[in-house]
Amino acid sequence: MDVQRILDDIGTDMAARPDRGLAATYIPELAGIDPAQFGLAVALADGRVLTTGDADVSFSIQSVSKVFTLALALGRQGDGLWSRVGREPSGHAFNSILQLETEAGIPRNPFINAGALVVTDTILDGRAPKETLAELVQFVRAAADDDDLHIDADVARSEQAHGHRNTALAEFMAAHGNMRNPVEKTCGTYFHQCAIAMTCRQLALAGRFLMGAPDMPRLVSPARMRRVLALMMTCGHYDASGDFAFRVGLPGKSGVGGGILVIAPGRASIAVWSPGLNANGNSHLGSIAMEMLAARTGWSVFD
Ligand code: GLU
Repeated sequence: MDVQRILDDIGTDMAARPDRGLAATYIPELAGIDPAQFGLAVALADGRVLTTGDADVSFSIQSVSKVFTLALALGRQGDGLWSRVGREPSGHAFNSILQLETEAGIPRNPFINAGALVVTDTILDGRAPKETLAELVQFVRAAADDDDLHIDADVARSEQAHGHRNTALAEFMAAHGNMRNPVEKTCGTYFHQCAIAMTCRQLALAGRFLMGAPDMPRLVSPARMRRVLALMMTCGHYDASGDFAFRVGLPGKSGVGGGILVIAPGRASIAVWSPGLNANGNSHLGSIAMEMLAARTGWSVFD
């Protein structure tokens, strides 16, 4: 199979589409990004990395960071994590507070904002946010085998300045006894993790630890890897997680920066980015491109 040819075809198709979605507007750093951009990178099990489009342009990974923090938290807490956060799709917007009210401050899953705040609270574990963020960045650098990754300080500052809703979620959970650290520490750490900047190439490389292929970085146990993938499959695309599973058939995690990390177990780690979002807050072109890639390659967990 000529994967590069498939990527080139997808790149050409994407460039010709007039509807590119709308970039997130809640912070100026995202609102100002040109939605014409599109990048795709595929890290294959044989070690090759194939790309098309703007695959070397850095973007804000936002909620894709929740994959890395979940892997770290499961390593730290094991199954203890599940007493504080659920494993069900939420059926609500990523930043909704509704279920916290009726479900005793226990978020539905680790990938909605409330659940991700619990996960971040877990990895903080009484330490200074700086130390925790250094560990997180180190984990992502080791996964990508690239020391050039960093947190975008302007994005982090903006996340903090516009973070009222996330702070409200954390305070609400604190009221239910589901926060272990001061809310401002957990939120500050969360705002910084969302501001990690990566290119598609770096993100595809960083996802290889979830591929389960020989010669890939082994940062987590196979059991933990399967659990992270199961949650990506069921909860990785906000309120469109079922639709993504239906259309693409692979576990993925998206972020409001327009990035999506997708894993084809045993075959590839894929990162796609286009900043324009669809109505569910997922990358408009990224979602279409992933559907095309899965159809053309035949990659699916349902094979
Ligand atoms: N920084 C964003 C927030 O916390 C991340 C949301 C996302 O990518 O889903 O609201």
